[in-house]
Amino acid sequence: MTREKTTAAGAESPLALKRRARRMQRILAETHPDAHCELDHENPLQLAVATILSAQCTDKKVNEVTPALFARYPKAADYAGADRTELEEMIRPTGFYRNKTTSLLKLGAALVERFDGEVPGRLADLVTLPGMGRKTANVILGNAFDVPGITVDTHFSRLVQRWGWTSETDPVKIEHAVGALFEKRDWTMLSHRVIFHGRRVCHSRKPACGACTLASLCPSYGAGPTDKAVAAKLLKGPRVAELAAAAGAPLP
Ligand code: SF4
Repeated sequence: MTREKTTAAGAESPLALKRRARRMQRILAETHPDAHCELDHENPLQLAVATILSAQCTDKKVNEVTPALFARYPKAADYAGADRTELEEMIRPTGFYRNKTTSLLKLGAALVERFDGEVPGRLADLVTLPGMGRKTANVILGNAFDVPGITVDTHFSRLVQRWGWTSETDPVKIEHAVGALFEKRDWTMLSHRVIFHGRRVCHSRKPACGACTLASLCPSYGAGPTDKAVAAKLLKGPRVAELAAAAGAPLP
């Protein structure tokens, strides 16, 4: 370790951590040029609905359901006045459909009653809406309003801990700790890139360490197979060949 990286106690200094984190962010940007919000949407209401449906469900499955849903319920008032049984049937494939239907009915009503039928663009307002936690609110802010936000989901939490960016486990504390390492304007894309890396490379059980572009900067290198050929087989998603090549691993 260089002197910059160490304190008297041997731990990484705040400055060294910030520099390492930003280096990792630049590599993530090169590794995942396709990173984006994977929930299809054209306006804030559609994204709010899609994020509610995405709880305990894959984005892919949500995207299969939403085209018909958005066509049937284009406005907040349409959810407020929806027939429960019909709405339940439409979103059933996303799981937990009774709870999610309740959230959508209440969301529609709250938007009509308190926000003239429009999704508000402020965190303080968004978190008052039914079915809307801080994570959901940040997804909406970042992707529908261009307000920088950090989305702390299960992938984000796991990766930033593996990387030693923070030892916090509470999502709000993680959000603040990681936010302090980066420029605010980078928060939304950072979130997408970290989540992409979590879905495609740094998996929960078997991270593809040997086929990971962050290996030289990651304190958890070795948490998964380090053999390049073995690790390459663990890569996921539509860009496995590019991911393997970027890490100098053979094609899986
Ligand atoms: S080296 Fe391993 S633990 Fe570290 S980011 Fe890559 S896959 Fe994850």
